[in-house]
Amino acid sequence: SPPSNSVIIVGAGMSGFMAAKTLEEAGYKDFIILEASSRVGGRLHKGNIGGHTIELGANWVNSGGPKSSPSLQIAKKIKLKTFYSDYANLTSNIYKQDGGLYQKHVVESAVRIAKTRDAFCTNLSKILSSETTRDDDTSILGSQRLLKEVPMTPLEMAIDYFFNDYEDAEPPRITSLKTTYPRNQLVDFGEDSYFVADPRGFESVVHSVAKQFLSHGHQVIRDPRLKLNKVVRNISYSKDKVTVKTEDGSVYQANYAIVSVSIGVLQSDFIEFTPNLPLWKKLAINNFNMAIYTKIFMKFPYKFWPTGPGTEFFIYAHERRGYFPIWQHLENEMPGSNILFVTVTDEESRRVERQSDEKTKAEIMNNVLRKLFGNKIPEPQSIFVPRWWSNRFFNGSYSNWPNGFTQQSYKELKEPIGPIYFTGEHTNSTYLGYIDGAYFAGINTANDLIKCFKQFSDGHHI
Ligand code: FAD
Repeated sequence: SPPSNSVIIVGAGMSGFMAAKTLEEAGYKDFIILEASSRVGGRLHKGNIGGHTIELGANWVNSGGPKSSPSLQIAKKIKLKTFYSDYANLTSNIYKQDGGLYQKHVVESAVRIAKTRDAFCTNLSKILSSETTRDDDTSILGSQRLLKEVPMTPLEMAIDYFFNDYEDAEPPRITSLKTTYPRNQLVDFGEDSYFVADPRGFESVVHSVAKQFLSHGHQVIRDPRLKLNKVVRNISYSKDKVTVKTEDGSVYQANYAIVSVSIGVLQSDFIEFTPNLPLWKKLAINNFNMAIYTKIFMKFPYKFWPTGPGTEFFIYAHERRGYFPIWQHLENEMPGSNILFVTVTDEESRRVERQSDEKTKAEIMNNVLRKLFGNKIPEPQSIFVPRWWSNRFFNGSYSNWPNGFTQQSYKELKEPIGPIYFTGEHTNSTYLGYIDGAYFAGINTANDLIKCFKQFSDGHHI
């Protein structure tokens, strides 16, 4: 019998839908999408605090570069509300550990040094990348050591955090220099960041992609090929057949699978592969990093922080690196909402995920906000701590390329195993970690599979 080209796609995030759309448009319509949760969108996920829509996951689009970002294009098409994030005034908004602002000129000279570090990193990365036959790399911290400019003081660490961790969600000690500097997302799509704040949520960009081929003229996604609440637990495969079992006991069969779950989920063994994935594949998966990025939202009865032009962002500089460091208010986006949020990453994210929200709230109030704004400030009416790391469908926020992980290992990370193909943000080396990475990953993986279909059918004609 002629080879059939049925595909099971695991995961209904940006990459899964882009893979499905690419297959559909090439005429391969025999696919199903299995999604573990009761919703689509994956790491684009809106939440709610006090009646206001907030983004638990992805929040920014980039603009102003030589290329146009697909996520920005879709956001524009559906007229999502976005707001320019103006970091220019941060030099006036950095607080000391025990309260009080650093003087502007002190911050400015620290920022100048941080920019020197940045330029050195970019340059060194260029040199390392031109050595095409060698795998030499270093961490961002390694590069800072080479320059003899390692951030030491609370102020220096806070600025360094803003330059690096705030983007990579892991510290400079861990992040690969060569694959991170310069950040392609910013070079290609622009350094202007626009913050999405729309009642429909950022996830509506994923809905928009899905509706293009799964809504059949209706306002909503209604296609039996999309199956929600299907938690994939086992993928058995032979040369040209895949059997997928879900937690509710359903069994699906196809010739191929495209797995779009996060690198964190792949590391967790939540999905069992039968036979086991080869050791080289498991090493590639487990040597890569799933970083954690957490926005902690708090709604207050009234505002006690500075508002008006140039106040949207402020930084807290603490001797413990990354201790409730980057703050943002939402007065521009949602006037009168009285919402403040703080971003933490990595070990601090793990720590706040493990402890109760009450404890986090008390810590933030006593150790940070009362120091900055006095003892009379009100308690928050509510706090929202997203838990991406403890969520078994994600196990973190987005991937980060660690120092020591080679280009060869990266190829292996993406490499299909028999009929099982891999996609997701972590498989796009150019824009990894971003929505745009997931977007291109889905297209690329589907095209690899289509190439394989064609080879197969050509073979049969001989
Ligand atoms: P996902 O969106 O994770 O899709 C995979 C899907 O698989 C999910 O829906 C999941 O539920 C499902 N799944 C998992 N396990 C199973 C299973 N066993 N069976 C069935 N289904 C399963 N990007 C930006 O561009 N800008 C930003 O500002 C930005 N900020 C971010 C902030 C945070 C807090 C987070 C979490 C992410 C952020 N990102 C940002 C990254 C961006 O959201 C992701 O890179 C992108 O959405 C990943 O898409 P994906 O399709 O690769 O994976």
